[in-house]
Amino acid sequence: MPRSNIYVVGGGIAGTMTALSLQRRGEKVTLIDRWEPGHARAASTDYNRVIRAISGRDEFYTRWARESRQRWLELQSESGQNLMYECGALILATKGHCDWEDATEDTFNKVGVPYYKYSRDDVAARFPQFRIPDIDYALFEPEAGMLMAHRCMLTAINLFKQAGGIVKRGRVTTDSSEKPMLDGKPLEADVIIIATGAWAADMFPRTIKPISSIVGINVLYTSTPDGSEDFDMERMPCWIDHGQGSFGLPSSEGSGVKAAVVIPDTIDLDNDERLIRKESLVRTRSYIRHRFPALEGQKVVDSKFNQVILTPDTHFIIDWHPEHDNVLIAGGCSGHLFKHGPVFGEFAAGVASRDYATADRFKLGARKKLSPKESPSGR
Ligand SMILES: Cc1cc2nc3c(=O)[nH]c(=O)nc-3n(C[C@H](O)[C@H](O)[C@H](O)COP(=O)(O)OP(=O)(O)OC[C@H]3O[C@@H](n4cnc5c(N)ncnc54)[C@H](O)[C@@H]3O)c2cc1C
Repeated sequence: MPRSNIYVVGGGIAGTMTALSLQRRGEKVTLIDRWEPGHARAASTDYNRVIRAISGRDEFYTRWARESRQRWLELQSESGQNLMYECGALILATKGHCDWEDATEDTFNKVGVPYYKYSRDDVAARFPQFRIPDIDYALFEPEAGMLMAHRCMLTAINLFKQAGGIVKRGRVTTDSSEKPMLDGKPLEADVIIIATGAWAADMFPRTIKPISSIVGINVLYTSTPDGSEDFDMERMPCWIDHGQGSFGLPSSEGSGVKAAVVIPDTIDLDNDERLIRKESLVRTRSYIRHRFPALEGQKVVDSKFNQVILTPDTHFIIDWHPEHDNVLIAGGCSGHLFKHGPVFGEFAAGVASRDYATADRFKLGARKKLSPKESPSGR
């Protein structure tokens, strides 16, 4: 069989994992990005990302997350790089705000995800860093943890190149029919996969923009107390705190404690300076004071202002363009794609190779908002 000539546009986690999977299937793949792989504007950079199976009652993503965990471990052993730290994840179920967490327990039991259900006293004994007067209970997922996102990205790019893939720099645009163009000419290939993250909305004003919104998220890294190891990943898990609109990760490789209070912010993808907003600084500090009293008085040591592209139901997009039958759109991050990277890439590669059709949930077209109980992200 002749090898297909495939262009993957966008070298974030969605594009790179899809490109790697296709190249390993024996296709001839070129990965093209506007900027250097691993650049700071992409949603896939930052030191780390949480990997956890919790997805409310959604079995599909729960299984994908478990499968991806396995794949990340395989990539780790293949590359010899520290890609994943299994520090666990603590899901705090706030009183009166537990729909997602309640639904998760059933899904974990069904799928066989290892977890502990902790009372408030259990959490206080096991993880005394957390001050938790407002929670009902917590779920602890011991096989969850963090992916070293930037390192994962660069490792995947290297594996792609080692497999014979080509990485190119360039900006792909679209014409009035949303056909991909490069240097003013139609991009010619057997298959073109568009994985341009949040930039896809402006590239596809008819297809993607109506089913997406883009939100800026501020993340702060806070120093740990002098002489203390309590906030290192060996002693502290990642956490999800939907009741407070927050999530975070312990200090790893000297990063400081990462916390995000999700205050949806506007963002100009190309023109904004990627500097933290004052309101976020104030809100995140106050959250840290509330949840981690021992971090009171600690300093911001790093920060990140980045974006997510959200679909109404927070399901990803993997589907053929309605007018260009060789153009596959792959993305729709919705704040939870990184962890799924390897399985997302394999699945998108199978759709691109026309081995199977996409899943209903990933189709383009009208989508509706889900309740927190139904939603995989709990938002
Ligand atoms: C603060 C924050 C925290 C998050 N936390 C988690 C988490 O804990 N766990 C998790 O699983 N997920 C998390 N996510 C979500 C996850 O990071 C994203 O879903 C994922 O990184 C999206 O990857 P992507 O490849 O679709 O997009 P991106 O990484 O943004 O990549 C898109 C690429 O396309 C390129 N591009 C754009 N336009 C063009 C063009 N015209 N031509 C050529 N190239 C182009 C860009 O340069 C970029 O490199 C988080 C996201 C944010 C912002």
